[in-house]
Amino acid sequence: MRKPIVAGNWKMHLTLAEASNLVQQLKGSCESDAVEVAVCPPFTALSTVGQLLKGSRIGLGAQDLFWEAQGAFTGEVSPAMLADAGCRYVIIGHSERRTHFGETDAMVQRKLAAAMANGLTPIVCIGETLAERDGGKTFETLTKQLSGAFASCEGWDCGKIIVAYEPVWAIGTGRNATPEQAQEAHAFIRQWIGKRCGAEAAEAMRIQYGGSVNAGNAAILLQQPDVDGALVGGASLKADAFGTIVKAAAASQTKVVNRS
Ligand code: PEP
Repeated sequence: MRKPIVAGNWKMHLTLAEASNLVQQLKGSCESDAVEVAVCPPFTALSTVGQLLKGSRIGLGAQDLFWEAQGAFTGEVSPAMLADAGCRYVIIGHSERRTHFGETDAMVQRKLAAAMANGLTPIVCIGETLAERDGGKTFETLTKQLSGAFASCEGWDCGKIIVAYEPVWAIGTGRNATPEQAQEAHAFIRQWIGKRCGAEAAEAMRIQYGGSVNAGNAAILLQQPDVDGALVGGASLKADAFGTIVKAAAASQTKVVNRS
């Protein structure tokens, strides 16, 4: 049985005071034995949020990393620096990084390898654009992104990696994938992982859905058999909405998974 994971991607939001205030609200209301919960603040707030999360079951994640250990890479942050700040998770290959900062599948592969080498749990984001979906190219895009990210996965415990299926057309748009669209994509991803990394890894891997998840639609999305949690942007900035999503993930633990 896979434990669902709900992660909040705070993106480029919140001052230290605002981040501290949100964490205080999340503590208690968003802690659950049935769900893994993480928040991913901007780099500037990692240390402060990490301190405030000490003793809580909410984990800390970063929104990106660079693959080198140290050196003259102005503006970048290494995996060891993230671990030092208290991070357990790191988001890799978010579509906003691919779109606005030219991140390629090859770069995603290097970042994933660096996260694995440094004991961080990667949340690898993949997903098609609207043009790709409308052009019938969804699975082609997912295959290309997965092949890139997992190009050097030999020797890894791939079941520990988290993949986030985030259709680009659903991110920050208020338009979520239907439960059927999400399930179809998640089942495809799990099948692909099974062929590349083995059946055991595919069964163990958590595949999150991301894209306009909110308090109203979380339950039905999380009820899908291959949806193992959510990567949440906008709604993760509101403690009550995020709490409702965590509760929906906890309730999804009772879903019947029928793999015929
Ligand atoms: C995200 O940032 O990964 C995301 C899914 O954002 P939103 O929930 O706002 O669509």
